[in-house]
Amino acid sequence: MDINTLNSTDLSTLRGMIDNARKVVIFSHTKPDGDALGSSLGLMHYLLKKGKTAVSVVPDQFPDFLHWLPGNEQVLRYDRHWKKALDAIDAADLICCLDFNDMGRVEAVRHAIEKSNAKVLVIDHHESPTVPADLLVSRPQMSSTCELLFRLLWQLGEFEVIDKKIATCIYCGMMTDTGGFTYNSTDPAIFFIISQLLTTGIDKDKIYRNVYHNFSASRMHLLGYILYEKLQVTESGNASYYTLSREDMLRFNFKRGDAEGIVNLPLQIKGLKMSISMREDTEKDNAIWVSLRSVDDYSCIDVAEKFFNGGGHINAAGGHLDCSLAEAEEVAKQAIAYFESTLQKPEKS
Ligand code: 5GP
Ligand code: MN
Repeated sequence: MDINTLNSTDLSTLRGMIDNARKVVIFSHTKPDGDALGSSLGLMHYLLKKGKTAVSVVPDQFPDFLHWLPGNEQVLRYDRHWKKALDAIDAADLICCLDFNDMGRVEAVRHAIEKSNAKVLVIDHHESPTVPADLLVSRPQMSSTCELLFRLLWQLGEFEVIDKKIATCIYCGMMTDTGGFTYNSTDPAIFFIISQLLTTGIDKDKIYRNVYHNFSASRMHLLGYILYEKLQVTESGNASYYTLSREDMLRFNFKRGDAEGIVNLPLQIKGLKMSISMREDTEKDNAIWVSLRSVDDYSCIDVAEKFFNGGGHINAAGGHLDCSLAEAEEVAKQAIAYFESTLQKPEKS
């Protein structure tokens, strides 16, 4: 199967960038997810095997259910270890930006990256990238940055270098960005890539359990509470939203990552096309984190852009609001009214 994605010019640029780099810093976005960390660590292990110095920097904390990823203990949190991270950025001759399309997604690290003289390589699968790069590899049609990373290594002829550790990181990101291959994952290339990854000896069932069977009892109680007490489904049954306050989080001993995946569950309701989750920041006042999910051709990205200062993908998007949870709820109602009004338009033939 042909899974190559670069034209020959970009391929030789990529090869040159990697061959010439000695010190590499790899960035992923704030609140890094399985794809952000999987691709960062997969690339880090690859570069280390190639004899480079490679460091992965994330803006802030990543969830508990990703702490098993090989190399996670080497990840530098910029909010904790900014001095070390700045030293690494200073010394870097190559900066890799993985799984984000906008410099706003790296928050405080942004200025350090923008000041650096290093070459910049962007590997990403979000729409409309604006990150300035010497080589931009943007493939919004792909399931994940991890899928794209695999394709690049494959095209470089480096499959032999992909060992169990690298493959585990790549598989993890492909799995998490597709909800365990339940959405955005019908491209046969994905299963070709998985078949190749499996030859390295990865335990895909264990990876699944590491990520999805890693909850505390209080998280399960939180899940039940949200579904029973908080979930609001519109009369038409087309959309739903729920809010999660700081008080709710305290009650259920909330840990980072505990809200993960819950926003997908209302989509299990027959006919429901869009689900919105709104969560208060655990520390900052008037800061609400928003997640959106939708199905089929019903897009939640434009709802995220129009109402929640965000973006993402057609079926999975996010954003934030600077207001109270009660005000956010009003925004969600407007967003849903807008979404439902688009449903009444006659279907394009
Ligand atoms: P999640 O709901 O898992 O946080 O995010 C879902 C998707 O939306 C992810 O692919 C993520 O990259 C994207 N996303 C989340 N928050 C934002 C945001 O504030 N801005 C943009 N452009 N994308 C976001
Ligand atoms: Mn991703």
